[in-house]
Amino acid sequence: MSAIDLHCHSSASDGTLSPTELVERAAWGAMTHLAITDHDTVAGLDEALAAAVGRLSLIPGIEVSTTWKSHQIHIVGLFIDHHAPAMSDLIAAQTSRREERAAALGAALEACGFAGITEAVRAEAGEGAVITRGTYARHLVRIGACATAEDAFKRYLKPGRPCHVVTEWASVAEAVGAIRAAGGVAVIAHPLHYDLSNHRLRQLVTDFADLGGEAMEVSFGPQRQGDADYLTRLCVSHGLLGSMGTDFHAPGGFRDLGLGLAIPGGIRPVWTHPAAAPYHFP
Ligand code: AMP
Ligand code: MN
Ligand code: MN
Ligand code: MN
Repeated sequence: MSAIDLHCHSSASDGTLSPTELVERAAWGAMTHLAITDHDTVAGLDEALAAAVGRLSLIPGIEVSTTWKSHQIHIVGLFIDHHAPAMSDLIAAQTSRREERAAALGAALEACGFAGITEAVRAEAGEGAVITRGTYARHLVRIGACATAEDAFKRYLKPGRPCHVVTEWASVAEAVGAIRAAGGVAVIAHPLHYDLSNHRLRQLVTDFADLGGEAMEVSFGPQRQGDADYLTRLCVSHGLLGSMGTDFHAPGGFRDLGLGLAIPGGIRPVWTHPAAAPYHFP
């Protein structure tokens, strides 16, 4: 268990725990630093910051969906001023994309026989929560239509499947620009989860660094030595800092806060960045 986890989700997006419950779970696990990085929203952060007082250091974060060369790439922002105008503008634009996308996804699933799913998912997620494909996948599992969320993606939600909806998200430039304008550090999330060739991934990292991106996740949970070595080379050769986070969404799965995280030797952790200074990292 690591005492630091810089990527997780609350019920403000597609996590199941409220911001307070997430902070409590981290505190029970003796964690010292937690970043909450909900999809395209900062709505859970004020509650989380209040819950964290006297317990742990809560880092305001966000996970922004972007489109890069027709790939969906997630950019995490850490140490942000979550009320900064640049952040609010980006979130407003993403929120309308998200709402349109959630409705289109619901309509596609209704056409596949899941009558009333749009309303059911909205009610389940709660007032104001950001709806993702993960929210729909969890619902399909709950009603017994799919065995696992992975199964829901394979059958319905992935590109090429009947209910996939193409969305044009913010550009990487817009995401990095807003995060920097909010005083934060931009981080490429889970770089091995995009199915990019080695060449494509290098291109992404190069573009990202050219735009002012400063870090990349190099640890997302227990991983093979080969992956750690690959990510280390990629990170170091582009002069990026390394971040780590489990992408925890809900208890009961194979991921948990802090589980299996470590920054490989030779990489400078993202918390050595000046923007992290107020959070008292070791
Ligand atoms: P979206 O941003 O709406 O495209 O949804 C992305 C979210 O769906 C991720 O943050 C995960 O929560 C979830 N997700 C993506 N791929 C999978 C998968 N293969 N199995 C389970 N959940 C997934
Ligand atoms: Mn998610
Ligand atoms: Mn992600
Ligand atoms: Mn995530």
